[in-house]
Amino acid sequence: MASISAYGPMGAGHVNPTLGIVAELVRRGHEVTYWAPAQFADRIAETGARFVPITSTWEAMGRDALPQMHGKELIRAIDLLLGETKALVPILAEAEPPDLVLHDGTLAWWGRILARRWGVPSVETWPNLVSNGHWSMNTYARINPLSPRFLRTLLRTGRYLRQQGITDIEGFMQGNTAAMRIVTLPRAFQYAGDTFTDGYTFVGPCLTERAFQSDWTPQRADEPVLLVSLGTAYNDRPDFYRMVAASAAGRRWHVVMAVGDLLDSASLGPLPPNVEVHAQVPQLAVLRHARVFATHAGMGSTMEGLYFRVPLVALPQMAEQRANSDRIAELGLGRALDPDSLTAETFWNAVDAVADDTAIRERLAWMRGEIDTAGGATAAADAIAQLLSRP
Ligand code: UDP
Repeated sequence: MASISAYGPMGAGHVNPTLGIVAELVRRGHEVTYWAPAQFADRIAETGARFVPITSTWEAMGRDALPQMHGKELIRAIDLLLGETKALVPILAEAEPPDLVLHDGTLAWWGRILARRWGVPSVETWPNLVSNGHWSMNTYARINPLSPRFLRTLLRTGRYLRQQGITDIEGFMQGNTAAMRIVTLPRAFQYAGDTFTDGYTFVGPCLTERAFQSDWTPQRADEPVLLVSLGTAYNDRPDFYRMVAASAAGRRWHVVMAVGDLLDSASLGPLPPNVEVHAQVPQLAVLRHARVFATHAGMGSTMEGLYFRVPLVALPQMAEQRANSDRIAELGLGRALDPDSLTAETFWNAVDAVADDTAIRERLAWMRGEIDTAGGATAAADAIAQLLSRP
């Protein structure tokens, strides 16, 4: 059995998609140690892996300093990531070298550096759309490759990587050095999915029981459940939550709304009896009962909604979510709305329309088939087993 070092960054959307894979690896007898920020201790312990907390440099950063993921802001995000990597590599390098490194491909750059230093294979988990010459997230992220600011960031990144013995900076940033990239969406959801051949394994969502969260059951069977959530990061939209709460009164829906930890729910005023508001909800437990999911279209939430065949109303809050949201609409899995021009009327019209749309139901059944075929955590662990058995 192998010893595996897993690394997760500051971000539920990056840690949650790995939980099923790690649980399956532990179940097969591998010894997994998972380094991640302390807030993820419970969910990682639930997989059976040994949890080791790391201190992220981003913990001290206020949530309003969270960079957007396009243009100049994305360049700032790369700088922040470089700072995080420089801080974590020397600390994590003190551990015993494992047989294999498993790390988030988009953010946990330190896994890439350590795997190379130790001369062991690395498996990257990609919780979002991946890019190549046929489709690129840059369509949405819109970095100007010639901007002096970007070039300065590349120089700084290149200087650090060369100190680590890495010369192919672009290859590094895209994860080309990985032995395998496990993408936690089905190939059918990926734009230009058929063009991602070498080194990409699309396994779809790898969900777990999530005993670390409480259960949730509807109080009344006769009200359809609408889950409303903008995720854990770009969710500071008090006006949106206020609009949903105020306009829900008298409708057929039971609204379960997760507003994040920045908003005092008392500031929403008295709630209609058919609305419950929480900082966070046990999302999978609610989705099991939901008739519609109004979501920011983060990829984790998108996959979770699709797994439970819940029609989606997408309200993207940043570049990557806009890419997901467009794909949801294109594949007929729900509707995409522009959150900046949203009114109570357009919101509820979309919720009612997707709830009763038989074409969307059929597409959701098709997508669930694609998810099942992709194989989830079992397929991911099988692929890792194959890698480990290579001489
Ligand atoms: N989540 C949850 N309860 C909440 C909000 C989010 O359990 O109230 C989980 C959700 O199930 C998903 C993750 O947090 O696994 C959010 O990831 P996603 O990629 O959807 O969005 P992000 O938070 O990264 O924007």
